[in-house]
Amino acid sequence: MVDVSAIAGAIAALRSANDIAQAMMGLRDAAAFQSKLIEFQGKIIEANNSAFAAQDERSALLQKISHLENEVAALKANQRKFDRYALKDFGAGSYAYELKASEANGEPIHRACATCFQQENISILHFSHQSEGQDWFDCFRCKNRQHFGRYARRVVDSSHSDF
Ligand SMILES: [Zn+2]
Repeated sequence: MVDVSAIAGAIAALRSANDIAQAMMGLRDAAAFQSKLIEFQGKIIEANNSAFAAQDERSALLQKISHLENEVAALKANQRKFDRYALKDFGAGSYAYELKASEANGEPIHRACATCFQQENISILHFSHQSEGQDWFDCFRCKNRQHFGRYARRVVDSSHSDF
């Protein structure tokens, strides 16, 4: 929360000092003048203290801005990593994120685990085997084995049966 009370305090003290200085100009009585002078000096000290407090607030705000700028840069860089991938249907509603060809930069096109991706982690899926028309992949991060493509039951050829 930004606190501008120090600046407001400095301005108020300077206005008071100005009012006191105006009042001092008409005074002929040395004692009354001395009293106003002390009051005037008090307001100048008050304004000075408020100016120092404002300077401290300014330094704290600059530090906070710098910290937030770094945070935004880190978030943008992180978002850029995820933007390199697109969700793809590998058949029969089996989904994974796939590295976009336009973003490959020499990397082989690969699949990333959709579950981990949703949790803001990019975990490359590793091919395990093929079975019943499906490709099976493992995610080493969430330990899920995932199958892609339409399940196709292997038809046993009974024409060669010995029965
Ligand atoms: Zn995973």
